[in-house]
Amino acid sequence: MIDLRSDTVTRPTEAMRAAMAAAEVGDDVYGEDPTVRALEERVAGLFGHQAALFTPTGSLANVLAVAAVVAPGQEVLCEARAHIARAELGAHGAVSGLTMRTWSHPRGQVDLAVLGELFAPDLGPYFVQTAALSVENTHNFAGGAVLPLADLQALRAFADERQVAVHLDGARIWNAHVATGTSFADYGAIADVLAVCLSKGLGAPAGSLMVGSADAIAAARVRRKRLGAGMRQVGILAAAGLHALDHHVERLVDDHAHARLLAEACGTDPAAVDTNIVTFDRADAPGFVARAREAGVLIGAVGARTIRLVTHLDVSRDDAERAAKVLAGL
Ligand SMILES: *Cc1c(COP(=O)(O)O)cnc(C)c1O
Repeated sequence: MIDLRSDTVTRPTEAMRAAMAAAEVGDDVYGEDPTVRALEERVAGLFGHQAALFTPTGSLANVLAVAAVVAPGQEVLCEARAHIARAELGAHGAVSGLTMRTWSHPRGQVDLAVLGELFAPDLGPYFVQTAALSVENTHNFAGGAVLPLADLQALRAFADERQVAVHLDGARIWNAHVATGTSFADYGAIADVLAVCLSKGLGAPAGSLMVGSADAIAAARVRRKRLGAGMRQVGILAAAGLHALDHHVERLVDDHAHARLLAEACGTDPAAVDTNIVTFDRADAPGFVARAREAGVLIGAVGARTIRLVTHLDVSRDDAERAAKVLAGL
């Protein structure tokens, strides 16, 4: 089976497993796991921020990051198909007591004209106040679309003028970096708080980080423990993340090439594929998914008519070519 359902399905490589087995560890709730600390410092530095916090999932990193800049009863504005709005099961409302309003863009992009309309300043005790703007780069449900740095910088300026925060869901910021050459520091500079995932394209078995100021991270560390996600000798997982940062970032160019190859086979414009995700419509998406499975290719439907393919570390050039042949023939 060639598994194109998600880039979360990767299994740790032998070299990653060796790095995990050799990791120096300690009790991270006491702040004594040297491998976790090394990972947190490295990722904070990469994005030009003061501190970072290791979390078991990207959803938790997002929940902690958004809560760092939006108080209960305030709102965050985001694109309608943002992961924080659609795929975190309402955690930001259920756990953090904040609300969201959304704008829609077919490619998940920033739209400052619409944001200008949506934005709600502090109007006294009558209206929900906008406290933060959130963007996702790359944008998962918009087909792995990259948000150009210039647009993110314009968003930063818009937020500064209004004195609100910017949250960046950078679950796949690695893919955006490799696709555009934009530095992690430039991406980091447009956000007050970020979330990044090690368990997607980078191929770690688990782990994400929230990135931000020392104060925001100290507060998030308390919230993380309150939510039951204080972890102990978790350097075993952090070691997988450090290994992935060393070995699995630059190779994402291969995933992007494989995605374009698959797009072409499925009759989609490969030039519209920015990174490792391909989406296209079929009248009967569930039927298409079932036929692909019978032919040895696992793919996903992300809507009644929308198919999603995701390339990753465990899909070789050969796999991509074979899957392309299968899908083209369905
Ligand atoms: C996967 C993902 C996350 C985090 O997901 P978890 O499964 O909780 O690790 C956050 N944002 C985006 C855009 C994602 O694709």
